[in-house]
Amino acid sequence: MHAFSSEKRREGKKIGLVPTMGFLHEGHLSLVDKAKEFSDVVVVSIFVNPTQFAPNEDFSQYPRDEERDKKLLSEKGVDAIFFPQADEIYGPGYQTYVDVTEITKKQEGEFRPTHFKGVTTIVSILFNCVMPDFAVFGQKDAQQASVIKRMVKDLKFNINIIIAPIVREADGLAKSSRNIYLSEKERKDALILSSSLRYAEQMILAGERNVNAIIMEMTKQIAKVDTAHIDYVRIVEIDSFHEDKNLASGKEYYILIACKIGNTRLIDNQLVKVISEKDLAI
Ligand code: AMP
Repeated sequence: MHAFSSEKRREGKKIGLVPTMGFLHEGHLSLVDKAKEFSDVVVVSIFVNPTQFAPNEDFSQYPRDEERDKKLLSEKGVDAIFFPQADEIYGPGYQTYVDVTEITKKQEGEFRPTHFKGVTTIVSILFNCVMPDFAVFGQKDAQQASVIKRMVKDLKFNINIIIAPIVREADGLAKSSRNIYLSEKERKDALILSSSLRYAEQMILAGERNVNAIIMEMTKQIAKVDTAHIDYVRIVEIDSFHEDKNLASGKEYYILIACKIGNTRLIDNQLVKVISEKDLAI
């Protein structure tokens, strides 16, 4: 990987990296398109990273289809696929971790306390292997993207982080490799994530500023779905992931949901910009 990237850099080419765990869908492919806008050479990494899964999570069952992924990426015209094996990344005696300590504590961090340390560690390793100028992440994992931005700033990685919008199925469900776990009924029930997010967005656009009122309404709607079990519904300021009690004019927030549908844990979010009363009146 170093030899490939060093050569491209010597030729003056800009390298864009799209880190993934494979089992690719249109969400991942949209990140490749985004990377192409910014770079001459696009590298997609595929690595199901063991250190970001807790022992009770789905690491061993996580869907994998290397041949299909390769086909999709070559059709997309990516320049290289970086597909390391676990023992190449975490060799014997491995003992080094990257830990972003604050914005990893809440939301996903409350429910997956070891997750982000695994993510920031593997992303640092991938950055060192691929040596990209740009790296593209999806807004689908909004907190992950903010954690990576914080890490890049703090550790002075000379890499621009680009966030690409969420790609959804026609009926609103955010595309995810994990959607394959859903039964037919659960697939329908899973629409509660995107529909409650849209409802919350409408409440905010209509002038609601009380965060609790919005969260209670979403919770009420989700509770009607018998397979749904909420981990959290939160509204956070987009950079700090701070939870305000009232939404402030001019600020941008993510409405976040993490919810199990049956045994499948799904996350989704909606970005909202809070418009001032004055602008609302116009
Ligand atoms: P994963 O393979 O799930 O680790 O995801 C790899 C990258 O793709 C991450 O930056 C995700 O945020 C992004 N991603 C996953 N699903 C979507 C989606 N539906 N829309 C846009 N980006 C996505």
